[in-house]
Amino acid sequence: MGAEACQGASSSSASPELVREQKCYEYFPHRLAADPYWKEIMPSYRRLNPNELPAEYADGFVVDALVVEVPQLLAQLREVHDLREAFHEFDVVINCTGIGSRWLCNDPHVYPLRGQILRVRQVGCDRTVSDEEGPNCLGYFISRQNDIILGGTAIKGIGSLTIVVGDDWSTNVDERTTEEILRKVENLSVGKLQKKDLEVLEVLVGLRPARTEVRLEKEEFSHGAAKKTVIHNYGHGGSGFTVAWGCAEEVVSLVQSALLPDARPHTPAHSNL
Ligand SMILES: Cc1cc2nc3c(=O)[nH]c(=O)nc-3n(C[C@H](O)[C@H](O)[C@H](O)COP(=O)(O)OP(=O)(O)OC[C@H]3O[C@@H](n4cnc5c(N)ncnc54)[C@H](O)[C@@H]3O)c2cc1C
Repeated sequence: MGAEACQGASSSSASPELVREQKCYEYFPHRLAADPYWKEIMPSYRRLNPNELPAEYADGFVVDALVVEVPQLLAQLREVHDLREAFHEFDVVINCTGIGSRWLCNDPHVYPLRGQILRVRQVGCDRTVSDEEGPNCLGYFISRQNDIILGGTAIKGIGSLTIVVGDDWSTNVDERTTEEILRKVENLSVGKLQKKDLEVLEVLVGLRPARTEVRLEKEEFSHGAAKKTVIHNYGHGGSGFTVAWGCAEEVVSLVQSALLPDARPHTPAHSNL
């Protein structure tokens, strides 16, 4: 099954949904001692059979995960130089400026986590594969409708070239990293995504807005006689899309407590509680 990693119908003709469910496979070079702690909230979680694993891998699982078409999701934004600029129009301001909070909030705990990815033309691949600790450490590919994202993330000291932790603000492409990503993806796809067959559409470098911990809290300001509130929601590093909905629910609660302090706390729409 692993050898079929990228077979199957191309999804390029599918409707252009910006957030889509996809089978997401993760492989491990050793047997897992236990299922991940989040298994109970992922009904689709399934441990892979040995015949579903590529060579050199001993264990793995598959879940139905969400893949996001990020560029299309980004809306137009206007630059602000001080959060208080927004107080003229609003009583509550939600600060989601990511790495910009380093200056807007004078927050030295925010730092860039540099990442390089390749965007290649879709070739009929319909899955997501990643390796976080095996022989292709931190290599991954994510199949989208019209393209496939190839990447690799590495934390300083673990070994790959793809990301440097710390104050690396360079958004220049590193050619050696590109080669490294292609090599890892070729291995992870069991040769189905071979460098010679791939049409590289773009090589991109981004700075993840990392922080020692996510800042999700309310801050009160006096604005003349009025009280204004800023709700900070930044510092999500490499998991901003993953945690976006949960953080948004928390932000809603904080907005509610700022505007309607006596109201019952907000209950998430999807909560069964
Ligand atoms: C290569 C790479 C791969 C990634 N893969 C994943 C993944 O698979 N899953 C996942 O969950 N996350 C992933 N991430 C991380 C994810 O992109 C971030 O966590 C997420 O974008 C953070 O969202 P944010 O809105 O907080 O910050 P950002 O996306 O950085 O948005 C902040 C916005 O604020 C704007 N801004 C900043 N300062 C100002 C200002 N003064 N005035 C006006 N606007 C301002 C910026 O222009 C920007 O548009 C990846 C990141 C990279 C770089």
